[in-house]
Amino acid sequence: MILHLEKNTDTARLKQLADFYEAITIIDEQKIVLITPSRFKNIEEAHQPFVKEVFVFDNDIQLASRKYLKDKRTVQIGQSNIGGTFRNVLVTIGPCSVESEEQITQSAEFVKNLGLSTLRAGSFKPRTSPYTFQGLGTKGLTLLDNIRQKYGLSIVTEVRDSSHVDEVIAFADVVQVGAKSMYDQGILRKCGKTHKPILLKRGFGTNLQEFVQAAEFILSGGNENVILCERGIRTFETKTRFTLDLCGAAYLKENTNLPVILDPSHAMGYAYGVPDLARACMAMDIEGLLIEVHPNPQMAQSDASQQLDHQQFETLFGTLKGIATAINRTII
Ligand code: PEP
Ligand code: MN
Repeated sequence: MILHLEKNTDTARLKQLADFYEAITIIDEQKIVLITPSRFKNIEEAHQPFVKEVFVFDNDIQLASRKYLKDKRTVQIGQSNIGGTFRNVLVTIGPCSVESEEQITQSAEFVKNLGLSTLRAGSFKPRTSPYTFQGLGTKGLTLLDNIRQKYGLSIVTEVRDSSHVDEVIAFADVVQVGAKSMYDQGILRKCGKTHKPILLKRGFGTNLQEFVQAAEFILSGGNENVILCERGIRTFETKTRFTLDLCGAAYLKENTNLPVILDPSHAMGYAYGVPDLARACMAMDIEGLLIEVHPNPQMAQSDASQQLDHQQFETLFGTLKGIATAINRTII
C-alpha cells in the first residue's frame, strides 16, 4: 500500500504509522508518503483521519506502478525532458568506453553536429573478464568533464561498484546502473538519495518483476527520476549476444509510470543488426534509444563488435528521424 498523509502529520504519529505498517517513509515538499509491504491491503479505522489517500497493490511494484501514477513521470536531462506529456525521444549515443581524449573529443563533436543533447560513455566498466580493459576510471570522468564544458552536452556514464558510486553520482548528468550492477543494493540505495536521473539497465537474467523492484529501491529512497532500460536478456539463442525483449518493453510501457529506453547494441552484440533493431525500437514509441557508436569500432577496447561507426550511425539517424516524425516524437 502507498499512504499519503497530511503534510502537517506530527512526528510521533508518523513514526507510529510507519512502525505499524512496516513502512518506508518519503517526505517531500508537498506530502508525506508511506510505502508498506504490498501484503497490507487496508488501514485501521483509527488511522483513517491521518491518511489522505490510499493505494493498494497486488505485489511490490508500487511507486513505479501505473495504478499509483496514471501518467508517465517526467525526467529532466540537462535542459530537456523525457516522459510526462513531452513527446521527446532521447537518442543517447557514444562509445562503450572513454578511451582517450582524442576518441572522446571525436565522439562529442559527432554528437554535437547531429544536434543531440547527451554523450554516453563508460569509465568504470563492468567487464565479464578481469583481464580485459576495465575503463579509465576517474581519469575518464575528467575527460568527460572537459567535454561537457566544451560542448555543453549532458553526460551519461555508469557506476560499476561501491568504490566509486559517490564519485559517479556527483559527476554524471545521468547515472547508468548496468545490467551486472542492478542488483547491488548499495548502489541502488545511494541512487535513491540523489535527485539525478538514474538509467537502470535490466539484468540479462532478470525478470520484469525483479527489474521493476530494483527501480522501487531507488524510488523509495526518494529519487523520482528513474528511467528503465531493456538491453537484452539471455535466452537459449546463441547466434546473437542476447535477445532484445520487446514484449517486456511493451509490458513496462503499459504497467509502469517510468520512461523506457531500449538498447539494441548490447542486445544484438553485432553492428550489422543494430540499425534494423534501432528502427524497430523507435517504432515502439518509447522514451529513448541507447546506441553504441565509436569513431573507429575495430579499435574499441570494449564491445568492439557491436559499435557503429560514424558513417553507419549517420545513415541510421536519417531513418530514425523519419520514424520519430511518424510517431510524433522529437529526437533530443
Ligand atoms: C554498457 O552500456 O556499456 C554496458 C556495459 O551495458 P550492460 O550493463 O547492459 O551490459
Ligand atoms: Mn558497452
